[in-house]
Parts: sequence; structure tokens; C-alpha cells
Amino acid sequence: MMEKLLSNTQTGFGDIKESYERICADIKKAMAEAGRTDEVKLMAVTKTVTPERINCAVDLGIDLLGENRVQEFLDKRDSYKPAEVHFIGGLQTNKVKYIIDKVTMIHSVDSIKLAQEISRRAGQHGLVMDILAEINIGGEESKGGISPDSVREFCGQLLELPNIRLRGLMTIPPPGCSEEIFAQMQRIFEDIKAEPPQGSGESNFKFDTLSMGMSGDYAAAIRYGSTIIRIGSGLFGYRNYIT
Ligand SMILES: *Cc1c(COP(=O)(O)O)cnc(C)c1O
Repeated sequence: MMEKLLSNTQTGFGDIKESYERICADIKKAMAEAGRTDEVKLMAVTKTVTPERINCAVDLGIDLLGENRVQEFLDKRDSYKPAEVHFIGGLQTNKVKYIIDKVTMIHSVDSIKLAQEISRRAGQHGLVMDILAEINIGGEESKGGISPDSVREFCGQLLELPNIRLRGLMTIPPPGCSEEIFAQMQRIFEDIKAEPPQGSGESNFKFDTLSMGMSGDYAAAIRYGSTIIRIGSGLFGYRNYIT
């Protein structure tokens, strides 16, 4: 035990490595349980995490980061090593311009107004932005996201915008919810994939991404078809909200 503590102190980042290895093993196990042979992407969620610790994750081989606060992202991004970044947090329309050319996907699209601004700003940069529609699968009032009943209609409206490409769905299930919630999310995802809304074409619809699963529930999420799990505290330890 003492030896372990010492080696953690020496490297400074032994805790991240240990967590990473545990998560990789869990992913493998959940994939096997579900009989899945495709891939699950591990995203490191970096809110409140210092650039040094983010770089440690990148050095371990994690090449996808999730940012959910615009200002913190802008302050930090030059201090960490190059990695792909997805924006995953609540996004105000007037902040889209700050991140539009700095991320490769926006997971948290839950209004047409926001999607319109993303498309407009992407157009100004000559980009097509990959987006996910955020679904409020638990129907929680405190959370953003489209109600499960309106997903198809919402996706159809997104497909009318010129500079976005709809890649799939994202959700934050209620903590401790039953697996039925994950199953329901998987059904919605598979339904839309199998029967794309009107207006879908090669340039605006590539429905291959289900962003579901965080530190407390990623194994269940993987069993129900998640393709990106978003892990913060499980990788970096509990967040220190004081800073
Ligand atoms: C913070 C956050 C996560 C990661 O949460 P953990 O429980 O720390 O893994 C995932 N997704 C979103 C949108 C978040 O804001």
C-alpha cells in the first residue's frame, strides 16, 4: 500500500492511469456482455480539470475530450496537447461563435434556435458542424433536451439547416435510473437510424453516434448501444468546484 502511494506521488498521475485501465477493462466486459463487436469511444470530460491532468489522459491514449463550459474551454485549450474536442454542455446561442471552429462536434443541441445559430456560424467558417440532438429521456424539468415524443420531428427540422450534419443523439439519464431508460433511448436511436426523417441525405445525416453513459452508468449505457461514453470524475477524481 505504501509503495503504491509513493509511486503515485512520484509520477503524480498514477491515479488517472489506474482509473483509465479500470474503465478500459469495464468497457471490454460490457461489450462482451452485450455481444458487441463494434467500438465504444471513451471521452475524457475535462471540466475543472487542470491542463496537466488533461495532458496525462492524452498521453495515455485518450484522444477525445469533452468540454462543457465555454469560457473555461477558451482559457484552457492552448495549454493542453492537441486532441479532438467535442462540446457537451448547455450552450447559449450567443456563445456559439466562440467555439464553432474549435470543436468537431456539439452534443447538446436541444433547440432549433441553437441549431440555426450553429449552422449560420459554421457557414461563415466554411464548415459543416457535426451535432447530436440532446434528448431528455427521464423527462426531468431541471435538464435540457428534447422530449422523447418530439425527437423525430426535431430531427426533421434540424435536417433543413444547411451547415450542420446530424450524427445522432445524446442524453443524460437520471442518476440511478432503471435500465429500461437506456433501452428506451436505444430504441429511439435505432428507430431514427432505420427510418431517417424526411429531408435526410448524405451531406446532412450520418446517424452513427449515441452519446450516453457517464462515470456512474457507463457499463449499462454500453450494454444498450452507446457509442461514446463521457467520463469525468471516474477518470480524474471528484471535481473541486471551489476553484
Ligand atoms: C460532467 C459531465 C459528464 C461527466 O460526468 P461524470 O459523472 O463526472 O463522469 C458527462 N456529460 C456531461 C454533459 C457532463 O456535464
